Amino acid sequence: MNTAATNPDERLPSTELWRTWKRILRLSKPYFLRLIFSFILAALATGAWLAIPLGLRSMLDSVFEQGDRHLLNVIAIGMLALFIVQSLMSFGSHYLIDWIGSRVITDLRQKVYAHLCQLDLRFYTNHRLGELTSRLGNDVGTIRSAATTDLSQLLMHNFSLLGSIILMAVLNWRLSLIVFGVVPPVVLVSRYFGQKIRRISRQAQDRLADTTAVAEEALGAIRVVKAFTRESYEVRRYRNETEALFKLNRHRALITAFFSSGIGFFFLLSMTTIFWYGGSEVLENRLTAGDLVAFLIYATNITRSVWGISRLYSSLNSAAGASERIFQILDTIPEINDNERAVVMPFLKGRVSFSNVSFSYEKDGFNLNQVSFVANEGETIALVGPSGSGKSTIMHLIPRFYDVQSGQIRIDGIDIKTVQTQSLRQQIAVVAQDIHLFGISVAENIRYGRLEATDSEIISAAKAANADQFIHDLPEGYDSLVGERGVKLSGGQRQRIAIARAILRDARILLLDEATSSLDSESEALVQQALERLMVGRTSFIIAHRLSTVQHADCIIVLDSGKVVQSGSHQTLFEQDGLYRRLCSLQFQDP
Ligand code: ADP
Repeated sequence: MNTAATNPDERLPSTELWRTWKRILRLSKPYFLRLIFSFILAALATGAWLAIPLGLRSMLDSVFEQGDRHLLNVIAIGMLALFIVQSLMSFGSHYLIDWIGSRVITDLRQKVYAHLCQLDLRFYTNHRLGELTSRLGNDVGTIRSAATTDLSQLLMHNFSLLGSIILMAVLNWRLSLIVFGVVPPVVLVSRYFGQKIRRISRQAQDRLADTTAVAEEALGAIRVVKAFTRESYEVRRYRNETEALFKLNRHRALITAFFSSGIGFFFLLSMTTIFWYGGSEVLENRLTAGDLVAFLIYATNITRSVWGISRLYSSLNSAAGASERIFQILDTIPEINDNERAVVMPFLKGRVSFSNVSFSYEKDGFNLNQVSFVANEGETIALVGPSGSGKSTIMHLIPRFYDVQSGQIRIDGIDIKTVQTQSLRQQIAVVAQDIHLFGISVAENIRYGRLEATDSEIISAAKAANADQFIHDLPEGYDSLVGERGVKLSGGQRQRIAIARAILRDARILLLDEATSSLDSESEALVQQALERLMVGRTSFIIAHRLSTVQHADCIIVLDSGKVVQSGSHQTLFEQDGLYRRLCSLQFQDP
């Protein structure tokens, strides 16, 4: 959905724009000295450029009038020297500004990415991944071009404009008034169009993010698309998005073109007036021919600069539109924040208790309602219940992916809200049902569990996870790349790698979502054995899909609509006439 049109800050364009630019400029603070130096270079380069018409003026008024060849040579050499200085200065300032721009954008990209990694799960359930990658890629890219080439050109144009205005006023102030008269309406018109362009740009960036999200969703689920033969449906969906984007871009192109050519027209009009009025001043001997030529060149300079500035103004406005979105991400505060007095979680023993925990993802209703239970050190707790009963939610709350609305979760007697979240999560290992392996080597995938692990620790973990054998049989063993550009692993193999990763993490608390996909019996036995090894000595919470797991659990918690309806051992619960027995007879529950 396109949210730009409903955004309240659209109503405050100029203050917002200024605030956005101030923030962008603040990003360049570490490079302040370089920035000043580049400004000086740009001013010098423009100064040299502005001296050229004065040389021409002397040539027309002195050299030709007096037939002075020597003066001609002096002027020519002087101009050559100026050109050299101008080129050197312009090289230096372009390079420096581009450098600063690239540096600032690199910093920004890293900052946004680091912030994205810090944001919590609630943020990710409310944002599409494609949209976020588009922000990081396209939006930052738009700012990049504005902050580099555009900014350096803008600087040159501004100096040139300023210098030309001063020199013109000195040459002939009456004639200058003709040119200056055009400036105020042009500024007003620029502001008006600038706001329009910025709004459309922002909408276009939003649309581009939506487009990327649609493509990423469909390509990410290409199996589903193909299985339901929805290729043309997806193509249509993408086409609609891109056509909408095209319409916005067309609208922007129309406004930009109208704006630039309109301003050009204004200035050509003023040039014609100078030509006519200045010509009559020369005829009446109130102006020399050299003055008029120099004046016309400065007027051309002004036209070129104002035209350039207005064009850059629209591109800078686009960048401001893009950066607002980036800043919105940066301004999103993670909900899960360590409080100032948060302490480091001590080394865990693994006793987990829920006391009257109530939690909801959205504002209304409860996804967990007054849930209480205790898991002692080293126990295995099986969570069972129909789909949507709250099993995964309990798993999300233990590492504090979300904060509870009421009640407390304590680990070893410490409320998890009072400790540093990182230090808590470091002591929890997760084996999810849909195992994510990264496109790096098998060894590195296992090392993800503990980055400082040695190679031999990785191999021992793989052995304990029954993974060592098949890894050895891969073309490059532990160095084989996984994923699209590497080896394709079966479901059972992926699970064993995930188990090895969890073994390596050596955490006291284990969160395990048993795979529902049926493995062949040999693979299942290997996975089962690996899991049993993994669970030894750890407090393990398992979303159980297998009867064997449940039977061996120390305690089974039966959930229904967010409430604990039964708890106890398999034997006890099976003897009761309750949900558990019904679920068992359905072999087993939640698909
Ligand atoms: P289970 O794992 O037992 O199938 P969950 O814990 O995933 O159930 O879900 C419990 C309830 O919370 C369900 O009604 C589900 O729709 C809702 N729910 C789960 N995740 C979210 C979420 N990210 N945002 C909103 N509601 C959610």
